[in-house]
Amino acid sequence: MNKITNHMPTAELQALDAAHHMHPFTANTALGSKGARIMTQGKGVWLTDSEGNKIIDGMAGLWCVNIGYGRTELGDVAKRQMDELAYYNTFFQTSHVPAIALAAKIAELAPEGMNHVFFAGSGSEANDTNIRLVRRYWDAKGQPEKRIIIARTNGYHGSTIGGGSLGGMSGIHAHGGKIAGVVHIGEPNYWAQGGDMTPEAFGLARAQELEAMILNLGVENVAAFIGEPVQGAGGVIVPPSSYWPEIQRIVDKYGILLIADEVITGFGRTGNWFGSQSFGIKPHIMTIAKGLSSGYQPIGGSIVCDEVAAVIGSDEFNHGYTYSGHPVAAAVALENLRIMQEENIVAHVRDVAHPYLAKKWAGLMEHPMVGDAQLVGLMGSIALTPNKAARAKFSSDVGTVGYRCRERCFANNLIMRHVGDRMIISPPLVITLEEIDVLIERAWVSIDECYVGLK
Ligand code: PLP
Repeated sequence: MNKITNHMPTAELQALDAAHHMHPFTANTALGSKGARIMTQGKGVWLTDSEGNKIIDGMAGLWCVNIGYGRTELGDVAKRQMDELAYYNTFFQTSHVPAIALAAKIAELAPEGMNHVFFAGSGSEANDTNIRLVRRYWDAKGQPEKRIIIARTNGYHGSTIGGGSLGGMSGIHAHGGKIAGVVHIGEPNYWAQGGDMTPEAFGLARAQELEAMILNLGVENVAAFIGEPVQGAGGVIVPPSSYWPEIQRIVDKYGILLIADEVITGFGRTGNWFGSQSFGIKPHIMTIAKGLSSGYQPIGGSIVCDEVAAVIGSDEFNHGYTYSGHPVAAAVALENLRIMQEENIVAHVRDVAHPYLAKKWAGLMEHPMVGDAQLVGLMGSIALTPNKAARAKFSSDVGTVGYRCRERCFANNLIMRHVGDRMIISPPLVITLEEIDVLIERAWVSIDECYVGLK
């Protein structure tokens, strides 16, 4: 077979891709007729595809390329680390400088009292770690019956069997099932589910489902609650301001562990280093991945508070991955964090998000089909609707309007994702004001083309 390169005709690449490559979250046989769009290069917030199109990436890949594409410093660091020590593990009392330095740096950036990091290869793996961590914690405290983890419908915590079970997405549970000991309460999705309540009353009511669930299960059986500060893959659902304080009150009252899944919200996305800081959440454990390395290397982890780490550490914890703290991934993540600090990227998020992007994002509601616009830092969503006042859904015979709109975005060289009829953005954190203008212009045109197409 000829060498496969960027220079091959797109159709040939697509045919090979469809023949051999099984894609995640894709109907793979459909790739035979409608080939994948093949990306070849990235710089800043811009991608180039195999046809030479310049695409603005409104999703930072999968919410991860926080420092933008094409930062060659990370490749330089990876090469140096591979040459020096390509691999060693962190099992059985061994360590290496990149893992030590990265753990120390994360502890420096994390909220007070969160000083310990257990590394994994991804966010899903880290959440699997969390299931074992919280159960081991209660075992070690002499309360082994505390095993149940309470999570939320339409939350996303990954795609391994553990992460997928914590997540509250029925489509994922339908493909492979769900482990025992995870239960779900409702999500704080005001637009879709708030009915006639005020957002604050709805936020309180949804948080109080946690208390009802704890009482129903018996607090002696409950290990932890897990939630994303802002649900990402569920559609960038920003909770009403009453929600997290009430969750915190309940978690404190019943003494269960709180896991904040910061895989998306961590490392600047919400305008602070962690989403927990933006929402005043005090977690015992935070899940991290994605922005930790800006996606340049696969790495994730659990940031663990002093008390939980002390209890877990009192005996051997029979858990770990071959690539826990992988030296190349750790060195790249460290370089990514160095760049974020030196270039004040978290402050940049605040500077461009409010009021500049926030105003333009809310301006999309002037379109007749846009009924809701939410934004926290550089993650945002809009709801597409046939009737704003009624917060109505499209009738099922129209199909998924979000999907149609996403296709228009793609055609207009803008990557936006859809979750049902919600359109979402999460661009690289380095996006400039001029690039925000381009993103908004292309979003408006795409929404409008979709709207006209529906008539
Ligand atoms: N947790 C959250 C909040 C996520 O958004 C994701 C991925 O999107 C994950 C966990 C899973 O991370 P990964 O895909 O790295 O396994």
